[in-house]
Formats: sequence, structure tokens, C-alpha cells
Amino acid sequence: MSKKEIISALVDRYQDDVIHVSDTVWGFAEAGMKEYKTAEFYTKFFEEKGFKVEVGMADMPTAFVASWGEGTPIVGFLGEFDALPLLSQEAACPVKTPIVEGAYGHGCGHNCLGAGAAGAALALRDYLKENNLPGTVRFYGTPGEEYGSGKIYMARAGLFNDLDVCLTWHPSATNNVWATSSLANISVMFTFTGVTAHAAGNPHLGRSALDACELMNVGVNYLREHIIPEARVHYAYVNAGGIAPNVVHDKATIHYFIRAPKMSQAQEIYARVQDIAEGAAKMTGTTHVVDLKEAIYDYLPNITLSKVMEKAMNEIGAPEFDEADYALAREFRKTFNEGNLASVKSNLAGLSLDTDLIGDDEVLHTRILPYKPLNKAMSGSTDVGDASYCAPTAQCGVATEVLGTPGHSWQITAMSGSSIAHKGTMVAAKVLALTAVMAMEDEEMLKAAKEELKKSTGGQYVSAMPAHIKPNIG
Ligand SMILES: [Zn+2]
Repeated sequence: MSKKEIISALVDRYQDDVIHVSDTVWGFAEAGMKEYKTAEFYTKFFEEKGFKVEVGMADMPTAFVASWGEGTPIVGFLGEFDALPLLSQEAACPVKTPIVEGAYGHGCGHNCLGAGAAGAALALRDYLKENNLPGTVRFYGTPGEEYGSGKIYMARAGLFNDLDVCLTWHPSATNNVWATSSLANISVMFTFTGVTAHAAGNPHLGRSALDACELMNVGVNYLREHIIPEARVHYAYVNAGGIAPNVVHDKATIHYFIRAPKMSQAQEIYARVQDIAEGAAKMTGTTHVVDLKEAIYDYLPNITLSKVMEKAMNEIGAPEFDEADYALAREFRKTFNEGNLASVKSNLAGLSLDTDLIGDDEVLHTRILPYKPLNKAMSGSTDVGDASYCAPTAQCGVATEVLGTPGHSWQITAMSGSSIAHKGTMVAAKVLALTAVMAMEDEEMLKAAKEELKKSTGGQYVSAMPAHIKPNIG
């Protein structure tokens, strides 16, 4: 039997488990950093499978590490499991039908993400055990990808530092190894404090916190012209002071996201945004405090390891769907708008790939896109970034969704509980497990992957989150 056949058979052994994990977590649909039922379920699951589980890592009650084996190489699989607000939806139902109006739903497919990574961890354990091979298998239960960014605290605590290989995947509409990075993101709030007064009677006695926010924003708007074009600075008024125009508002808060291709670039812009806040406070006679919420590194794909994943992915092959899946996929497709459908082509173009690689009439992706490493960032951010600075990391997308599905949508919640997602999740487990085995058995590659990491990071990872800032689990 080829390695691919051995690994496929080992993952197939756990098919019922993988689907059970995915569907159970789908049903929990818990908010980021509050995945209590999910973490408890996973803990029990891994303990029953003979893993040692440590819970409550890096000051987060729902962060855990399940491990098996000893010695090197050490392989870590990252598993996410948080859901999104307002995306409750019946499983496999192509008509918008919330189970509970306004509730959370798995609109980013993280139920599949964790289940696929868990399947890979179990298969790799069996492979090492049955072949009497040294090595450690870890499954990282990483909470709050959507809200709270658990991995940045797990990285800060050094939990990824000893990994030889770090692997993960994301439910997707296409099958491909991630060839681009993501944007670093600094999330920060500025709260201004002034003096309240009657806006008509004694305005000269008032000092407006709202004015400070407005002036700060004017400053940041002017700043945008003079920062690198790839950077993004967006804002929201968290507290605009109040609803009464006849009161001088003494408290106001504005929230910024500062994104750039590299953390160092985001930090440089952040320093300038802080200067602007100081200027706004001076102009208005107010004081201000800076509340850094999160600082997420850009994703650093390890090209050496990604090439191994590409090979594994091509050997395993894309998911194969049946007639019922295609029929369901066509129903979902009817709910997409033109822009969603056009995104299939624009995503290909964004990866510098031929836009004909996916035909207009294709509803499910059943091939594998070529892997072409690119020196550019996709527009979003992910906390896999911090892990990728600690250890050689590779990540892929596997089709669990219909081509053209809008991101973070009720359609994804529905599909993530369907047989389409079950098939994709099993393929993801196989790709991750085979990548791990191929990597562990290639000492030269492991060395080269580490050297590549060292070269691109300049050595040690330094968290962008100061030590005194605790995870936001509230
Ligand atoms: Zn996601």
C-alpha cells in the first residue's frame, strides 16, 4: 500500500468520529472565547481516544492542547471551533431558516475546521503507534478566531515554539494550498474624557470628548494619504457621547482596526495614530486612554512546508460529491447574487491563476488549484498569523461549500452541517495527516522549513501584545 492509501485508510477509520465532532460542534454554535460546551466535548473526546489533555491554556478557559506520544518531530494541528452571531440556520437548508432567530451559527465552518484537524491528529497517532515511530502529535484547541483571537495568547505563552510542523486548513469553496499571506491587524480603542456642561448655557466650561473623537478621525483620514497603499485603517464609534445635543459630552470612544501586510508596518502606523490621538486631546483640552484590544500577526506561509502539503493534497485528491450534493449545491447557488458568483473568478485572478480553471457552470470544486506562492496578502486577517511566526506553518482550503458562497453567511452555516461539508472535512483530515507523515519522514525538509522561518522572521517571534494585556474572554 502506498503512504497515501495507508493514511486514507487510517482517517477513514475515524469517519464516524470526524462527522460526529463536526455536527456536535455545529449544534453548539458558541461565541468566540465562550466555547465552554465545545471545549468540554473535545476534552472528553480526546481523553477517550488516549490523548493527554490540558485545558485553560494561556489564561483562556476554552483553550486546550491534546497531545500524544513523545520526542521529536512534534506536529501540531490547529483546530478552531467558534461561531458567528446572527447566522443561525437549519443544516443543509438552502432557504434562510434560522433555528433560533438572532442566535449564533457556524457561518465560517469552524465546526468542520476543528473536526478535520482532529481526524488528522487521530490518524497520525495511529500511524506512529502502529509503525513504532517516535514523535509527538498535538491538537491545539484554539478559541475565538472570530472574536478574541486565542492563538495570539497561545503564541505569546510559547505554546507553538517547539513545533517542527504546524498544520491547519480552512473550509472553503476551492481546494488549494494557501499561497498568500494575510494582513496584520491591530485593534485599538481610544477613549477621551472631557468635562460636561450645558451646551448653550456654559459651553465655555465644557470640554468635549466627542469633539476629540471627531478631530482624531479627521487626522486619521488625512493620514491615510500618507501610508502604504496596502494598509487599511477602519473605525467605528463605540460611544459617541450620548444622544443629547444640548450636553457637552464628557466621554467618547472610537475603535480602529489598523491593517497592513506586515506587523512592523501596522505598528508604525499605530504609532502615528497614537500621535494623532494625543493631538486631538490637546486641541480639545481632554485626556485620553489607549486600550489595545488585539494585535494579530500577518500569516507567514512556510513555502518549504506548503510544497509538501501541495504534494499531499494532489495525492489525496479533491473531495468527490454525489448527485444529492450537486442537487443541493444548485439550490444554494440560486441564493447568490452576481457579485458572489463573480468572486469565483476574481479570487482566481487574485491568486494569479488562470480564471478558466473554474468554469461558470461548476457548482462544486472537484479539482485542485495549482500552488503558486505569492508575495502578497489577502485582504482579511487570521490569528494563524501568530502561530506561523513561531513554527513552520502550512494551511490549505478544502471544498466544503458551493463555489461563489458569500463569506460569513447563513449559507455557510447551512452547508457546514451538510454532507458536502462532511466529505470536504474528511479530505482535509487526510491532507493534513499525509502532509504530517511526509514532513516527519523528511529530516532535510524539516531543517529547510525551519531555516526558511528563521530567515523570514529574523529569529524569535515577539508578540505584539504586551504581557499585561489579558485575553478578552468577557
Ligand atoms: Zn474562519
